[in-house]
Amino acid sequence: MVQKSLKLPIASITPITFQDFPDHIAAIIWFMGCNMRCSYCHNPDLVLGKYRPLRFEDVVSFLNSRSKLLQGIVLSGGECTLAKDFIAFASLIKELGFKVKIDTNGSNPQVVREAISLNLVDYVAIDFKAPNHKFEAVTKLNSFDKFVESLDILISSDIDFEVRTTVDPNQLLVSDIVEMQNFLKDRAIFNPLILQNFIGGNTLSDVLGGRR
Ligand code: SF4
Repeated sequence: MVQKSLKLPIASITPITFQDFPDHIAAIIWFMGCNMRCSYCHNPDLVLGKYRPLRFEDVVSFLNSRSKLLQGIVLSGGECTLAKDFIAFASLIKELGFKVKIDTNGSNPQVVREAISLNLVDYVAIDFKAPNHKFEAVTKLNSFDKFVESLDILISSDIDFEVRTTVDPNQLLVSDIVEMQNFLKDRAIFNPLILQNFIGGNTLSDVLGGRR
């Protein structure tokens, strides 16, 4: 297949994972760039685009070499949906026979909607960063409404999805978590909000300064 070269800010590939795509053996493709600035973010170099992007032909070569070994590809980051050629890339991955999982911060509902409507995505993990009253303080982006729009797109689709949050005790209180769980229940999402532990080390606030 002759493939048009796509512009993709891909920093690296995790060649195999058994835990990042439920019930699938998968690889993770890590996109650079993000429109949020969560202080606890443990991928500052990804968010700030500090890596030399992989060549598109090398990414395609990797995918071709794994078509019989892997069941799925996780598109993660950063915020993968911001990539200019994201939809074309997801389409290519599907053409190669993989299932696609998207990890998203929920700020780009139009791309989530397009990917679902084109049957390019099989599973979505969406971040619920904080309740409305704290959302901008945690993410440095005024996008709670976009998150809700993305969530509602998933709810009204037949796509499997999970909702998760990072619990940084400097950002979220127990009362915030309860508020977020109640928010999901009000939308008839009864699967528990997945709580991810804050990972210390080199965080975005260590790189950019400011309070964590
Ligand atoms: S933790 Fe925040 S800043 Fe880091 S990649 Fe996710 S949404 Fe972007």
